[in-house]
Amino acid sequence: MTGDGSRNKLHEGKAKIVWDAGDGTYVVEFKDDATAFDGKKRGRIRDKGRCNNLISAALFELLEREGVPTHYVRTLSDREMVVVPLEIVMVEVVVRNVAAGSLAKRLGLEEGVPVAPPVLELYYKSDALGDPMINRYHVRALGLASDEEMDRIEALALRVNDVLSRAMADCDLRLIDFKLEFGRARDGRILLGDEISPDTCRFWDAATNEKLDKDRFRRDLGGVEDAYEQVLRRVTAAAPTWRAARPAVSGPAQARVYITLKKTVLDPQGAAVENALKALGYGEVSGVRVGKVIILDLAEASPERVEEMSRRLLANPVIEDFTFEIVRGTGARSHSVPV
Ligand code: UDP
Repeated sequence: MTGDGSRNKLHEGKAKIVWDAGDGTYVVEFKDDATAFDGKKRGRIRDKGRCNNLISAALFELLEREGVPTHYVRTLSDREMVVVPLEIVMVEVVVRNVAAGSLAKRLGLEEGVPVAPPVLELYYKSDALGDPMINRYHVRALGLASDEEMDRIEALALRVNDVLSRAMADCDLRLIDFKLEFGRARDGRILLGDEISPDTCRFWDAATNEKLDKDRFRRDLGGVEDAYEQVLRRVTAAAPTWRAARPAVSGPAQARVYITLKKTVLDPQGAAVENALKALGYGEVSGVRVGKVIILDLAEASPERVEEMSRRLLANPVIEDFTFEIVRGTGARSHSVPV
């Protein structure tokens, strides 16, 4: 029990404490403690807990609006957020857009070289083993998650990359790479958990490539506190524009799901249209992909459920990409307020 007697401490990790709030939710408290290199380097970063809590909250909110279900419920204080209890899947997912850290070392790439398409890696979440890299066969052999869960987790991780890469560009930051953790809610749904912060992401200034993340601590670059504050300031400044672009919708709404073949899949129809347009003199056309739009009238609009419907039925995630928008009202005469 804590001093106030109302919460139970469930777990104290390197950077966070998890409390059972006693009402079906957990509270995550973010600490200033910092560790690196499997706990071999330890220190404190002043106000890191506040920065990571508030940055994570803003990014979880953004992701929820974009159809990525997360454990985030609400912000409780500068250093605490209320979350949905999760049974953590013991697989850490790393997504990389630019070579850095262990990838640069392992593949002999110069740090800063873009990797495209993005690289997704899996690590076994085990402090005792030093989080070894694993693949889907290991996940199966160790019984860490089902194939269906891993499909979902990987699709969500790539979607998080798309959403966060765009959002970070609004903050004049480059999203180099990041680590995510997922968990199972009591109803079995997979939710994004943990945190999204300079502790778990590499952020470089878009203009100068200055590192504004935990590498300043790992590599003794100085200015660690300033880097975390800088990311918080930029995220806080951009968050209102994210909210305005996709306000939460309640009541009847229409979802429009746009489906196209993945860029890596041959699109003969698109190629034919492109050639025909060029033949008609529209030389400015440099690419065409032909897809379909599926319009759903909904009594309640939940981005998460639209994402799920798209993934499970409307699109074939192996060969197709999808995006969607939700507009208020239903039917052809709905006023189009994109959310
Ligand atoms: N990362 C993390 N926790 C870990 C390992 C990595 O949050 O236990 C993050 C790290 O901050 C970076 C990304 O995952 O954004 C990729 O890290 P990498 O494999 O390059 O390892 P590192 O160089 O950080 O040891």
